[in-house]
Amino acid sequence: MNGPRILVSIKQVSQADTTEFDPSGVMIRHPEEQELNPFCRRAVTFGVELARSHSGTCSVVSMGPPSAAEILREALAIGADEAYLLSDPSFAGADTLVTAEVLEHFIRTRELAYDLILTGRFAIDANTGLVGAQLAELLDMPFAGAAKQLEWVANSLLLSTELDDGIRSVQVKLPAVIAVAERICTPAKPSAEEIAAIPTENVQRLDRNDLHFSVDKPKSRTTVDEIQHESLQRLNIVVDGSHELDKALAFLADQHHRTTPSNLVSAITTLPMQHAAYLCDPEQPDLNRHFVSYLLSGDQSNACQLCVLHTESDLAGVSKSFPGVDHLVRLKGSSMEDDLVPVIADWLRAHPQELLVAPATSFGREIGARLGVLLDAGVLTDLTRLEIDHLPQITGWKTVGSVASVAKVSSTTAMGIVLLRPGVPTHASRLRPSTPSQTTLVVPERGRVVLTDPPVPDPIFNFANAPIIFGVGAGVNAYEIDDVFRLAQSVKAELGCTRKIADRGLMPRSRQIGITGRSVSPALYIGIGTRGSHNHLAGVRGASTIVNLTLESAVGDTGIDLTVIGDWHDTLPPIVEYLRSITDNAACKQPEDPLLH
Ligand SMILES: Cc1cc2nc3c(=O)[nH]c(=O)nc-3n(C[C@H](O)[C@H](O)[C@H](O)COP(=O)(O)OP(=O)(O)OC[C@H]3O[C@@H](n4cnc5c(N)ncnc54)[C@H](O)[C@@H]3O)c2cc1C
Repeated sequence: MNGPRILVSIKQVSQADTTEFDPSGVMIRHPEEQELNPFCRRAVTFGVELARSHSGTCSVVSMGPPSAAEILREALAIGADEAYLLSDPSFAGADTLVTAEVLEHFIRTRELAYDLILTGRFAIDANTGLVGAQLAELLDMPFAGAAKQLEWVANSLLLSTELDDGIRSVQVKLPAVIAVAERICTPAKPSAEEIAAIPTENVQRLDRNDLHFSVDKPKSRTTVDEIQHESLQRLNIVVDGSHELDKALAFLADQHHRTTPSNLVSAITTLPMQHAAYLCDPEQPDLNRHFVSYLLSGDQSNACQLCVLHTESDLAGVSKSFPGVDHLVRLKGSSMEDDLVPVIADWLRAHPQELLVAPATSFGREIGARLGVLLDAGVLTDLTRLEIDHLPQITGWKTVGSVASVAKVSSTTAMGIVLLRPGVPTHASRLRPSTPSQTTLVVPERGRVVLTDPPVPDPIFNFANAPIIFGVGAGVNAYEIDDVFRLAQSVKAELGCTRKIADRGLMPRSRQIGITGRSVSPALYIGIGTRGSHNHLAGVRGASTIVNLTLESAVGDTGIDLTVIGDWHDTLPPIVEYLRSITDNAACKQPEDPLLH
């Protein structure tokens, strides 16, 4: 066949609610509970379709334990032409960069010229989403994600990509690495019989020697130090909405004093290093100010020089936005991730930092991942809490796998790159006086990833940091979402949704809350017509109070404070009326950030 050669990189994951780790932080895999990562399933399905429609070939590869052969057989059953398992005991516990390096070795040792490499947007067990961008950097290819539409035009791709805060269209030069979004296609699900019909020897196995690794064990730049299974400490109260609604309102009145669960509230007492930098996401000015304020929230006397890298042209405005920082570096020219990376890497080589922080948005994720490769730095993603006690080690906490697990992760390199997850409450900063120095760096266009349609904005800061959030579930019909929106507006609440609603295209994916969506930490979260699945509740674990309006309740530990059984058409209006009656909404305010008011 003369058509394109497509490679799909896939991962075997534990089913979302069952992820476990051994004491050394290595994931425990129960073979019967493993599955093809849902985003990778889309990547394989789409890769096979694309290869067929262009008379090309689609190969699949996975780095993993021997049990990962199962997902490769499944990929062959979906229609992939060949499958490779990269497995070696020395790969156990590999972090994202080692995984990308193993994949790079596979591609280079086989001297295969792939036109397109597809990955899933991220793996649902660890939620890092870094491997695709890191592989692209190792292969010196452009990267784009998360693609929800893809059109092959001569030597390039036209993509519509999902950002955290909307959608944008880009043209990407081939060869390239592309991460796919959930909605790129309907995922294929072969039957157990179809998978069993694929002979095991059709999966080709390669170990460290086959891949020409010169070291005994490729070295991870990050470690998982500890896993904590948290008690969610929710109240699990269930009331019947038809005749006990007064109990629900009394409960809400009682919740005024509740604060956000303390283990998720970030607090760094000081930045103990000499040099730290924050990289602004050009589309998220409020989020940037919030996180810079967080970095400055420690002891005023600390001697850390904090530098902010930004793309704004209004230098006076930037200076005002970031009081307390020591240096401002303007990145002038292109603000495409692919163009920014080499310029920022050069700057970091000339001005070594012990810590680089960026928001865990698609922008921060791609740049952080690629800088990790170029500067050999450990990248810690989606942290909800940062701890810096033993330099140069940077440590933090993130949610993993199941709803009740958090992992303590560390970087082991001279510079740690940290991506902070939006939607995590932070403390107000204690401002220190400063007159920042200003530098400008020119960012030339490389022309590998070109914006064809600007992003359609949906600022996530307002959503992620709203004091009240209503979560719309499948119990709300398409034509009723506007009604819920109006009720939400009347109490200044933001609207989020479950995956079912985002899947149906009824609300933007950037509003999906949960394990494959985003995290929010409102004072009050009200699920409306939602089942309250663990996968959804994983995104509201930082909420002070969780209420769910549903027709039926789970028994036992629901992960919810108050379940109101009944039709939401009847139960929501009185609750909204009550919230409106709390004139100043005092109960529903997060600690204020002085930079934002
Ligand atoms: C790997 C993976 C990742 C996932 N990630 C996410 C994620 O990030 N976020 C997410 O949300 N989901 C996620 N899911 C899906 C999740 O498991 C659930 O399927 C989903 O959250 C259910 O959505 P729902 O509650 O809206 O719908 P349903 O499960 O269909 O529940 C609808 C609820 O509405 C109630 N209802 C119906 N009519 C009314 C009415 N008139 N009044 C009151 N109640 C009513 C019903 O009683 C029911 O409880 C994921 C799943 C997988 C496998």
